[in-house]
Amino acid sequence: ARRKLSSIRKTDAITRDGTPIELLANIELPQDAANVLDSGAVGVGLFRSEFLFLGRDSLPSEDEQYSAYRAVAEAMRGAPVTVRTMDLGADKNPRWLGHGSAENPALGLTGIRLCLAEPLMFRGQLRALLRASCHGKIRILFPMINSLSELKQALAQLEYAKSELREEGLAFEQEVEVGAMIEIPSAALVVGSLLKHVDFLSIGTNDLIQYTLAIDRNDDSVSHLYDPVHPAVLKLISHTIKTATKAGKPVSVCGEMAGDARLTRLLLGMGLRRFSMHPANLLQVKQNVLDAHLDEVGPHAARILRSEDPDKIADLLQQLNAGPG
Ligand code: PEP
Ligand code: MG
Repeated sequence: ARRKLSSIRKTDAITRDGTPIELLANIELPQDAANVLDSGAVGVGLFRSEFLFLGRDSLPSEDEQYSAYRAVAEAMRGAPVTVRTMDLGADKNPRWLGHGSAENPALGLTGIRLCLAEPLMFRGQLRALLRASCHGKIRILFPMINSLSELKQALAQLEYAKSELREEGLAFEQEVEVGAMIEIPSAALVVGSLLKHVDFLSIGTNDLIQYTLAIDRNDDSVSHLYDPVHPAVLKLISHTIKTATKAGKPVSVCGEMAGDARLTRLLLGMGLRRFSMHPANLLQVKQNVLDAHLDEVGPHAARILRSEDPDKIADLLQQLNAGPG
């Protein structure tokens, strides 16, 4: 019998065959952290740190950022806090940055590109994150990575920030984990080389779908074409999960797909073991995890992945969700 969802808040997310699944929360502001553990999540899988930089007249100082990251780390009481470095540009362009409007903002100076173009601003955030890493389990996640050289440049900035702190005698966690977001098709296709340089990956399906299908994620006139289960999207996600798993490195999905209860079985069947989502979706996804058996969903997901026909994929997905699990 199906229990009330609230009764599984404290239940470990384990499939029927006994495989543990990590369910994490997405947050946008430090104060969101207070509700994360109550939502049934075991940590923060995506802290969209750019919200600290929006709706204000100037860049927040390193100390101000440090306080914010430290507060989140402490609120999580040792549970992981994955902080994505500022993902500004595109639709999030603060006035104080002084970058004019671009003709194609989604293809312009965004995410890690903007950070690498503004190294002082970027290092201020990295220094604040490193200093906060003594107060909890902070992980650093780079957004919109597009190539190995871009990842290496971001890592070089992190090393620079660490060496500055060492020289200044400021403490930080030496083993702070670093990850890359896979949300541009190019990154998914060269993920094997990226994996050698990071501790974990997080798949940003919101952007991955946008850039794979050439569909603006915010444009209503094409929203009917924005298809999370387009075979091309599924192939990129599957390749990323398989390659990371083979390399022994954790991989999550932190885009909206992770919180879509209709896709839990499919993602589990594709090998996903770590999901990060809006806390409001967490218990429904947890219930789906509790009901799923990997021996059932694995072969079914493989069948879906072999198809390039959207109608067939829709049918198979419906069957997958209607089955006993
Ligand atoms: C994504 O692109 O899927 C993602 C998680 O990042 P955002 O939605 O903030 O771009
Ligand atoms: Mg994104």
